[in-house]
Amino acid sequence: MKRKKLNGTVIVTYRCNARCSMCNRYKAPSKAEEEITIETIKKLPQMNFVNVTGGEPFIRLDLDEIIAELYKKTNRVVISTNGFFTDRIIAMCEKYPKLGIRISIEGLEETNNQIRGLQDGFNKGYGTLKELVKMKHPDVGFGMTIQDRNANDLVPLYKLSNELGMEFATASLHNSFYFVETKNIIKNRPMVANNIEILINELLKSNSPKKWFRAYFNHGLINYIYGQNRLLPCDMSKDTFFIDPYGDVMPCNGTKDKEVMGNLVHQNWEELWNSKQAEIIREKLECCDRKCWMIGSVSPAMYKYIWVPGLWVLKHKMRALFSKRPYSMYENKICRDFRDGKISKDDLDKCSTCDMCAITNDGLSDASREQLIYRAGEEIVDEDLNNQMRSQGK
Ligand code: SF4
Ligand code: SF4
Repeated sequence: MKRKKLNGTVIVTYRCNARCSMCNRYKAPSKAEEEITIETIKKLPQMNFVNVTGGEPFIRLDLDEIIAELYKKTNRVVISTNGFFTDRIIAMCEKYPKLGIRISIEGLEETNNQIRGLQDGFNKGYGTLKELVKMKHPDVGFGMTIQDRNANDLVPLYKLSNELGMEFATASLHNSFYFVETKNIIKNRPMVANNIEILINELLKSNSPKKWFRAYFNHGLINYIYGQNRLLPCDMSKDTFFIDPYGDVMPCNGTKDKEVMGNLVHQNWEELWNSKQAEIIREKLECCDRKCWMIGSVSPAMYKYIWVPGLWVLKHKMRALFSKRPYSMYENKICRDFRDGKISKDDLDKCSTCDMCAITNDGLSDASREQLIYRAGEEIVDEDLNNQMRSQGK
């Protein structure tokens, strides 16, 4: 029997040069010597699609070899990056002309730099995007994590993506071991939802079916920030996996604690994927109540249950024939209930995954955590980067 191909995400490092306000990963880096090797990458199965992420993946100087190995496993590789290492990104795209690049930009200049905590972060990220456009690299996009501080920049950034002829992806705040965060929460839900509503109407106005389906994704985002159950089931762990810098294979990146199905350093893929432990994790996630709405878990669900977004798109495209504003956030009952005072902000907060008292699991190995006894994560990564620059004569 032919086995179904999986979608994989390879977290090549937990080191990051940024200081984002919604993610503490930069404080909890992996130890460089422990990070996933080519030998482990070789053990991955054939896949439909691979996303390479971090931390900041371009911190790894051997990323090039990792990408070469991944291309033996799949035709489509996309790297998610904060766009800071322009030269490294350009060099990689020159070498792999089909490579997808997704740069996260968290708002217009001032907002982005505040959220990202990098002084020149916007100019670096945007500069990288413009370089990629100049070299006509075909698969480039950018995306933002919508939150109170940047919601007003959402539509302007979408318009910028159109000017550059690029894809524009959205996400919102999540809490998980992967983000080393438990306290993320949207405070002013109607204001944020209102900006998403404007984006949805812009997307529906376009002539691109891909954008119409993105409109549906954003409709689900409003539902998510109001703490409601997902619009589509989450089948992570059945046809999707994440592998972390230590070779631990996990179902997704949305769980509160790290959920490990097996370790690819010590096992082979078949043994790991079909193991009792993998089954235990799958069963555990059958009852998962985290309600994440991230593209990694939503995109496969949109394909699988295509009639749900398909009907939604059809309905709203019909409406667009007669109205300039075919979508309203108040189509969501929960938005109406909140507007009408039938549910309070406190009640909505309780539906979120925000937990001010939770102990954060960072998913680090003992050795990676041990180095944090003596120095802060930021110091360790800064020193790594200084050493890299010195060895490259910069
Ligand atoms: S969100 Fe990304 S760029 Fe920001 S600190 Fe986390 S890993 Fe780094
Ligand atoms: S909702 Fe899905 S992606 Fe989120 S933690 Fe649960 S299984 Fe993972």
